[in-house]
Amino acid sequence: MNKSRVAVIKCTSYNDDGVLQSIKKGIELLGGVSQFVKPGEKIVLKPNILLGADPEKCVTTHPAVFKAVGQLFKSAGAIVYYGDSPSFGNAEPNLKKSGLKQVGDELGFILADFDFGRPVSHKDALLVKNFVIANGVLDNDGLVSLPKLKTHGFLRYTGAVKNQFGCVPGFLKGQYHVKLPDPYDFAAMLVDINTLIKPRLYVMDGITAMEGNGPRSGKPKQLNVLLLSTDPIALDATACRIIDLSPEVVPTSKLGEKAGLGTYHVENIEIVGEPLAAFIDKSFNVNRTAPTPVGKSGRAMSFIKNQITQRPLIDKTKCTRCGTCVRMCPVEPKAVDWDKGNKTQPPRHNYDRCIRCYCCQETCPEGAISIVSPWLVRLFARRRPAAKE
Ligand code: SF4
Ligand code: SF4
Repeated sequence: MNKSRVAVIKCTSYNDDGVLQSIKKGIELLGGVSQFVKPGEKIVLKPNILLGADPEKCVTTHPAVFKAVGQLFKSAGAIVYYGDSPSFGNAEPNLKKSGLKQVGDELGFILADFDFGRPVSHKDALLVKNFVIANGVLDNDGLVSLPKLKTHGFLRYTGAVKNQFGCVPGFLKGQYHVKLPDPYDFAAMLVDINTLIKPRLYVMDGITAMEGNGPRSGKPKQLNVLLLSTDPIALDATACRIIDLSPEVVPTSKLGEKAGLGTYHVENIEIVGEPLAAFIDKSFNVNRTAPTPVGKSGRAMSFIKNQITQRPLIDKTKCTRCGTCVRMCPVEPKAVDWDKGNKTQPPRHNYDRCIRCYCCQETCPEGAISIVSPWLVRLFARRRPAAKE
């Protein structure tokens, strides 16, 4: 069996030229840019913009990474398009907030339509056989994925595979959380999007990653690394090893391997470039426990389940009563809402309705929502003897 190759490249800052040289080196280690594009082809770059934010906050793929990949593909003859569908709102204002639109305008990249899409069927899918995919993806010859390495409440980690969720336009993304509340079903859907779209190359921005309360409200963490691969499962597994997170904890790993998308097994991955050991950060703040399966009956969570499942919690001192969490909650009736319509107080969660999709935590602009363990779990964790190394 051929091993999946992952290029691991040291890059310590977002200096444009440094990033360009590093990504060029990584692409050369994978066979050169001509492996991924023919002159005249339309290639869409798909950064992670989530909700658009200042690049320094590390919520989004850094403009320097976007710029470098675009330049390399353009110089190989590609017509470069770009886009992403944010958690809510249209793509363009969020691309501006992320500093990506400015780079696109400067270099003549074309804004692709990620606000609207059309139906596509996927007969070989693990789980979801019909998608609506953004026109900007379907109208191009190929996609290059530019994920950001971050923590994620629902799936623990977001990277190469998860990045393609932004190819589903607009509010349709929220509906997947309602239809697929189990993290393993949700992960199967993410794998299906990747086997449908088949990005040609994945280039991960791990120069400054996000730890803690990600994917929007965590802390920037310097990892000084760029990861490149054609195998998103191997790339994600390598990123997980860097942050000392077992790839098996991330639901897309095993499902991705099952679907033939790639491999997470270390013996099947060839690291090229720098040795991985130089980047491993055991202090990286990430939840290292596997997500709890919701199961087929999970929509009506039992009392017991509520006592053991993590939950979103609002810090009243940080909440500005903006209402984003209420708007973003995909379940009806809302699982986080104003108490009797009173908008002068923070919204309140109803944990019986809550499906633990963490869209509220992901989108709160103040970082006021964190994911906490219930008191029973905290009590058990305190009493449990420390695990041996
Ligand atoms: S999104 Fe955050 S700041 Fe806004 S109302 Fe909800 S908890 Fe408060
Ligand atoms: S309250 Fe938050 S975690 Fe619960 S269903 Fe709504 S958005 Fe998802």
